[in-house]
Amino acid sequence: MAGTFVTLTEIEAARAVIAPHVLRTPMASSLSLTEKTGMPVHLKLEHRQITGAFKLRGALNALSRLSPDERQRGVVTASTGNHGRALAYAAGLQGVRSIICMSNLVPGNKIDEIRKLGAEIRIVGQSQDDAQQEVEKIVAQDGLIMVPPFDSPAIIAGQGTIGLEIIEEVPDVETVLVPLSGGGLISGIAAAIKALKPKTKIIGVSMQNGAAMAASLKAGHPVKVAEQASLADSLGGGIGLDNHVTFHMVRDLVDEAVLLTEDEIAAGIVHAYIQEREIIEGAAAVGIGALLAGKIRLQGPVVALLSGRNIDMDQHRRVIAKHYAKGSVPCPA
Ligand SMILES: *Cc1c(COP(=O)(O)O)cnc(C)c1O
Repeated sequence: MAGTFVTLTEIEAARAVIAPHVLRTPMASSLSLTEKTGMPVHLKLEHRQITGAFKLRGALNALSRLSPDERQRGVVTASTGNHGRALAYAAGLQGVRSIICMSNLVPGNKIDEIRKLGAEIRIVGQSQDDAQQEVEKIVAQDGLIMVPPFDSPAIIAGQGTIGLEIIEEVPDVETVLVPLSGGGLISGIAAAIKALKPKTKIIGVSMQNGAAMAASLKAGHPVKVAEQASLADSLGGGIGLDNHVTFHMVRDLVDEAVLLTEDEIAAGIVHAYIQEREIIEGAAAVGIGALLAGKIRLQGPVVALLSGRNIDMDQHRRVIAKHYAKGSVPCPA
């Protein structure tokens, strides 16, 4: 399947399927970032999506492509992050059985949240790999369908619906900043936008700590990188050594991949909170972080995508408190 590409037609079809069940999230002008960069900057507020992240778009579209027999059997994944939440919610909405596999290391509050969304929980072993093995066992023994978090045409087409909205909301956009991990989000957005307005620059932003896609692009093939803790925890994890779709799409459609330090990500969270009055997670703050760090050669109206808000609120509080403790900026009135 290497070389599979998702097309504008598939993304438009995905939009028709998912539109009744997702929010069309707002596009907001950022006066402060416009002033700082000297370019019009707009923020796509996708962190306000149902379940707190864009992943619902892909999950709903993936479910819609299942046959009646597959729907009957149910879906399974090992993600305890935004993909797991989205799949649990989407399956519940449609009366499809879902199982989320996780290791004993996953905190209790996270387990409860996913259970509340309607999923069955299986707790096995001490690592994400153990949880993934359980997924494979369930697929083999019970015939449930595994829904991957990013490397699937249905998922990519669902996430790509954001690209259609961006072009409609800011028709003269020249640069789009997209958080990048496994690349499902940016592949879909780039496929939509490059089809409609080919000269638009699509820039992926990741954390320096363990950016698997950036390392793979450099190597010319998917590679493994050591996972490290990061404020942008939703951007962690590999792209899969047997990656089928996103590696090729990112390589061919994305103009640039930018990496941020932890301090630059924190600055994005702080700016979103203090200037824009938005609570976002680290993964969602990388676009703003890259703008503030001056890491991108900017061109014309800019859209930065805020992708999720599922940050631990104690962690959010600590990031903000650290900022004020530095005394660098007075508290806003
Ligand atoms: C999953 C996720 C991303 C990255 O999406 P990919 O398709 O893996 O590149 C970015 N931000 C948030 C909040 C996410 O949950």
